[in-house]
Amino acid sequence: MRVGIVGCGVVGATIAYRLSKIPGMEVLVYDGRKPDRLDATGAALGVLMAVSCAKLKGRHIKLRLESLTLFEELIPELVERTGIDIAYNRQGILQVFFDRAELDRWYTTQAVRQSKGFRLEIWSDVQLLERFPELASARSLEGNESVVGAVFSPQDRQLNPAVLTQALVQGAVQNGAKFHFNTPVSGFRSRGLDNHHQVTHLCTSQNDVPVDWIVVAAGLGSMPLTQTLNQPIPIFPVLGQALHLRCPKPIRPDSPVITEGDVHLVPLNDREVWVGATVEYPQSETDVSINPNPEDLERVRLRAIALYPPLVGAEVIRTWQGLRPRPHERAAPVIEQLPGYQNVSIAAGHYRNGVLLAPVTAERILTFLQTTL
Ligand SMILES: Cc1cc2nc3c(=O)[nH]c(=O)nc-3n(C[C@H](O)[C@H](O)[C@H](O)COP(=O)(O)OP(=O)(O)OC[C@H]3O[C@@H](n4cnc5c(N)ncnc54)[C@H](O)[C@@H]3O)c2cc1C
Repeated sequence: MRVGIVGCGVVGATIAYRLSKIPGMEVLVYDGRKPDRLDATGAALGVLMAVSCAKLKGRHIKLRLESLTLFEELIPELVERTGIDIAYNRQGILQVFFDRAELDRWYTTQAVRQSKGFRLEIWSDVQLLERFPELASARSLEGNESVVGAVFSPQDRQLNPAVLTQALVQGAVQNGAKFHFNTPVSGFRSRGLDNHHQVTHLCTSQNDVPVDWIVVAAGLGSMPLTQTLNQPIPIFPVLGQALHLRCPKPIRPDSPVITEGDVHLVPLNDREVWVGATVEYPQSETDVSINPNPEDLERVRLRAIALYPPLVGAEVIRTWQGLRPRPHERAAPVIEQLPGYQNVSIAAGHYRNGVLLAPVTAERILTFLQTTL
């Protein structure tokens, strides 16, 4: 079976790698980007927040937990096959709280996670400061409150999304997959009537490529592509800005990701951290462009310093921004068969968790394909 995957961000690359392991599967990947330039995936912080997600039940939390579990096998496998160091941080995620009522709500989450075999630790302020004395002068930016405690999630992870994507591509190539960068897909050729269409080719400016199955994993590009099939899946951008900082003082070598609300501090080495991210919506829900607001980014920087005082005086090495693909008026992500088509799957609209959800997305796409094998 010849599968054409459109899009090689983290989602498309993970699908390509997964499918390339199946005997008899010919995997072709097309992306309009240059090999070393990434869209949303290149902006992501790589925080894999599953056990410490506040949601108690439902499809979304199930996907998160399943994907986190898949990562534990995927990362060692990729490192062994490719020799690429993916910078997989196994130190967990520490969520700091300034509000007692908010912290207390986590006892319910803790019990629910425990019933599924996952662990959360809830620490008082004393327990937190025993382990992390550097947080003694942490304050909330808004109310200047001091810490009341923390939720520590030892099983959550973080990694470098660009390096992960590179390793997935390399691993898939080793398994025989073919990648075509600088090659945007403009549309498809199909046959069939009414609700029983079948795509026969994907079309680039160079040629029409015969395929048995199509996976659209094109992030924000998925909407125009599904439009060409008269089944548009509306996906719009939400902008995120982030910073790379160098601390004046060393950071402990075993540091977890430290989080408060939307602000994540991602340790990279003994001096450097990523900090992000803003969440900036378009003026109207269906705008396709967003102007980054410098005040939002500054607020993230100030919140990070208030949360983690060793960052006072940190130098800004770099700032960046990216567009998260968010489905319009439906839950993220969209992983489904395109209505009306027998051989088109969609894996898009992963919004704020595309890195985390990439492995489980690949498993779901494989299941769609296996029903016809
Ligand atoms: C600041 C920021 C921080 C984030 N932090 C995290 C985080 O900590 N954890 C997490 O899980 N997620 C995070 N995210 C979200 C994450 O980045 C996205 O959910 C994820 O990258 C989506 O991956 P994707 O492969 O679907 O899309 P993309 O990475 O955008 O890839 C889509 C690809 O499709 C290609 N394409 C589009 N149209 C076409 C076409 N017609 N033909 C060929 N190719 C096409 C594009 O060139 C692109 O390479 C963050 C996002 C931002 C912006």
